[in-house]
Amino acid sequence: MARYTGPVCKLCRREGEKLFLKGKRCETPKCAMLKKNYPPGAHGNKRSFGQKSEYSKQLREKQKAKRIFAIAEKQFRKYYEMADKKSGVTGDLLLQILESRLDNTIYRAGFSDSRSQARQAISHGLIKVNGRKVKTPSILVKEGSKIEIVERAKTSKLFENLAKKKDTSPKWLKVDLKKPIAEVLSLPTKEDTQQGIESQLIVELYSK
Ligand code: SF4
Repeated sequence: MARYTGPVCKLCRREGEKLFLKGKRCETPKCAMLKKNYPPGAHGNKRSFGQKSEYSKQLREKQKAKRIFAIAEKQFRKYYEMADKKSGVTGDLLLQILESRLDNTIYRAGFSDSRSQARQAISHGLIKVNGRKVKTPSILVKEGSKIEIVERAKTSKLFENLAKKKDTSPKWLKVDLKKPIAEVLSLPTKEDTQQGIESQLIVELYSK
């Protein structure tokens, strides 16, 4: 199934929780989860999020993770298989892989307001990793990776206010918003992921 490109607020309403897909708007009263806190669709306001079966909980958790990181099914399964082949807790490793994506790293470093904005910056050739321009949002960063904005984009509208922003980056990143540069100090752990994804439910679903 291809990556979803429709109205993103519907995805939060479908999951019954804020997935923070729209950057600054998510923190304002305009958030659709405040205005329409019921599932989308013609009878959505008569439906509740209700009791869920075990299978439905697993499926919803996978959908939620896919939506947060904006990943299509095929790629998401590939990440699960990568995690499953490594030694360690598969669910934790899956979260580590998702969190290590370049688009997520840029977002978590504070260089963009959303993962989709980060993805756009990468595909427009505005990002360098270890001194080389990259155009693939799904690249997985490694310990020691250095992420920068290309010179010509530093004064662009997208990044113009970075120096005034507060550094809210997680501990696995060392960020200097003035330069701006982010260095991966260590690979992210389960505790570093936001929005409480219960990865064990996803593992249970895929390992059936
Ligand atoms: Fe979700 Fe953000 Fe839209 Fe609110 S504004 S519904 S958190 S994407």
